[in-house]
Amino acid sequence: MATMIIEGDRTKAASGKTYEVRNPATGEVVDEVPAGGPADVDKAAQAAAKAFTTWSKLPANQRREILHKATQHMLSKVEDIAPVLTKEQGKTLLESRLEARRFGENIGWFADLADKIHGQYVRLPDLTTYGLVVRRPIGVCGAIVPWNFPLTLAANKVAPAIAAGNTVVLKPASTTPLATLLCIEALIEGGLPEGVVNVVLGQATGEAIVAHPLIRKIALTGSTPTGKRVMAKASETLKKVTLELGGSDPCIVLDDADLEGAARAISVGRFFNCGQQCLSTKRLYVQEGAYDALMEKLVARAAKLKPGNGLDKDSRMGPMHTETQRAEVEAQLKEAVDRGAKVVFGGGRPEGSEYERGWFIEPTIVENVPDGARMWTEEVFGPALPVRKIKDLDEGLRLANDTQFGLGSSIWTANMAAAHRAVQELEAGYTWVNSIVIAHDELPFGGTKQSGFGKEHGVEAFMQYTEEKSVVYGGV
Ligand code: NAD
Repeated sequence: MATMIIEGDRTKAASGKTYEVRNPATGEVVDEVPAGGPADVDKAAQAAAKAFTTWSKLPANQRREILHKATQHMLSKVEDIAPVLTKEQGKTLLESRLEARRFGENIGWFADLADKIHGQYVRLPDLTTYGLVVRRPIGVCGAIVPWNFPLTLAANKVAPAIAAGNTVVLKPASTTPLATLLCIEALIEGGLPEGVVNVVLGQATGEAIVAHPLIRKIALTGSTPTGKRVMAKASETLKKVTLELGGSDPCIVLDDADLEGAARAISVGRFFNCGQQCLSTKRLYVQEGAYDALMEKLVARAAKLKPGNGLDKDSRMGPMHTETQRAEVEAQLKEAVDRGAKVVFGGGRPEGSEYERGWFIEPTIVENVPDGARMWTEEVFGPALPVRKIKDLDEGLRLANDTQFGLGSSIWTANMAAAHRAVQELEAGYTWVNSIVIAHDELPFGGTKQSGFGKEHGVEAFMQYTEEKSVVYGGV
């Protein structure tokens, strides 16, 4: 049985309760884990606060070296971690390997910033005094993670937090705790001091983290409704919050675009991870002259995405993560079809005995989805893509911005003026121009509108795990 990790110890829940983690491809139990609660969060927060007193005071170059060494050890375990991620989450082994590697790379990227925290000297009117602005770590940070990218989204929070000298209480999603535990365990085996990252498990630990008085900052990735609840609760103890929430990213393709490149990017953008991505091409707007050719290419690509158990090397798309999640996507699709949408590819569940026990779904492309349909107005968190013909860029931009969300966006065109206009006018935290939708370590990532605020990735995320403090030196 897997356990929580508190102050380096493998810990059961104080209540003694457990729950099962199941494989979305087969329904089989992968492992049983502790169902933690407020008492366990308290223990983890105390451990993190204790570790903060030494970790935050360590010379930054030592912190950097410790993190690099721990990361190397963790990266040597990718082949052990990846199948566990596939079994608990459903994604293909290739996707799991990429994700496990990204976990380590992310820790390494931020480790290099550990000794690059700079402040300011400020001249004051009274020349016998001067001011400084120093940056200090915040303290204990809570990291709350969803199930779609358990490792990537944990690393996005843990990496900048610990590089800046903070300590962490980490809560994976209830259904995907196992690979995360292996990653943190590997970091500890590789030399990360005990208590710097503590992992608590179980649904009830999320709210307890947000409420805990020792925890000073919350970084949540999750749905928009969860973000609103977390922000309201965090206000009671005035915690800082970073919210990476839902999205419904538009992609505009103009007549002059490289359609082969666009089709590849859209296919990855919509179908990678069985479409369960925050940053993802969720609404496609294609100019009339490119429409037929692009649809043909998209259908050809979708046809190659064989659904299957992620452990099977022939599978190109794993199952959806839960029955509820699949039912939600199917309901969104049905509503569109009932209102006149036409399924161009997929639209159902794959048939065959190998699909009977898992939450499989076909990659799906639909057109003629009417205005106001759920596929346009809500987040579609699965592999179903609504496509609409547009006359010109004006129409594309109007439709693209007609959403409560503002996470990612993309445009494909050979016209630099059109691309520049889209960059200026698309209401989103990220715009890709003629480029595949992938978040880069080097660039700050985060949403606008109801997709949240605060940044992950980049120097900006690192700085958000520090606090500025003003200092006045007198009598000089
Ligand atoms: P979710 O909001 O249900 O849960 C996310 C995490 O928050 C889980 O660990 C959950 O246990 C915890 N949680 C739930 N309620 C809580 C509460 N009241 N207090 C504290 N913690 C609480 O989301 P999910 O279904 O696991 O993930 C899918 C959602 O995440 C989608 O909307 C998706 O767009 C979003 N997402 C966003 C990004 C991004 O970076 N913007 C990335 C991936 C996923």
